Amino acid sequence: MSVELRNVTKRFGEVAAVYNVNLRVESGEFFVLLGPSGSGKSTLLRIIAGLEEPDEGEVIIGGRVVNDVDPSERDIAFVFQNYALYPHMTVYDNIAFPLRMRKVPKDQIHARVLEVASMLGLTNHLSKYPYQLSGGEQQRVALARAIVRKPRVFLLDEPLSNLDAKLRVKLRFELRKLLHDELKTTTIYVTHDQVEAMTMADRVGVINRGQLVQVGTPDELFEKPSNTFVAGFIGTPP
Ligand code: ADP
Ligand code: MG
Repeated sequence: MSVELRNVTKRFGEVAAVYNVNLRVESGEFFVLLGPSGSGKSTLLRIIAGLEEPDEGEVIIGGRVVNDVDPSERDIAFVFQNYALYPHMTVYDNIAFPLRMRKVPKDQIHARVLEVASMLGLTNHLSKYPYQLSGGEQQRVALARAIVRKPRVFLLDEPLSNLDAKLRVKLRFELRKLLHDELKTTTIYVTHDQVEAMTMADRVGVINRGQLVQVGTPDELFEKPSNTFVAGFIGTPP
C-alpha cells in the first residue's frame, strides 16, 4: 500500500514540529526518514500511524485517510525506539498476543508464530521470558510481534538505537531483507544515523526543523545535496 502525505503540519504551541510535509512512499518501498534529534521524525511517524492528528493536511494510506479508518482496521504496524515486551509472558506469548487480541483461531496462531519466529531466528527462544534474552534477541521479539499480523505498512522509529554497534550493522541488513525482500511491505524507517539511512533505503527523506528538505535515492543525496544542511548532515559521521 502506498503512503501519501499532503501538506501535513503539526504544531505544539508556537512551534511547528512538522511543517507542510508532502511525500509519497510507493507500495513496497523502503523509505528512510533521516534527521537530527528534535527535527520532527517521531511526530511525523506518529501522524502517519494515526496516533496523532495533524493540524493541517492529511495522510492517505491505500487510498483512505488514516484518521477516518477505525484503529483496529488499520493495516499498520509500529515499532517504537523503546519497545516494551510483556515481561510476564514467554516469547511465544509475546508474539501471539496481537493475534489473540484479534481472536484468530488457535491453530492459525500457532502456525504463524512458528513461521515468524523462524524468520527472525527465535525458534529456540520461544519458551523463554524476555529477561532471559539479550538486547538483540529482545528487539527481534518486538519485530516478530509487529510483523505477526502481516501488516502492509510498517513504521519503525529508531528501532536499532539501543543496540551495540556490531548488532546494529547485522540487523540493518536483516531488517531490510525481511521487510523489503521477503514481506514486500511498505516501510518507513526513522533514524538520525546517516550510515543506516544510506545503506538501508530505496529513498531517503531528510528532515530538518519539521521540514522535508530533500527526498532522493542515497546516490542522489551524496552526489547532489540540495543545500548545505543536507551536505553537512550526510557528510558528518553520526
Ligand atoms: P525527533 O523524533 O526528530 O527527535 P520529535 O518529533 O520528537 O523529533 O520532536 C520534534 C519537536 O517537537 C521537538 O522540538 C519536540 O520538543 C517537540 N515535541 C514533540 N512532541 C511534543 C509534545 N507532545 N508536546 C510538545 N512538544 C513536542
Ligand atoms: Mg524521535
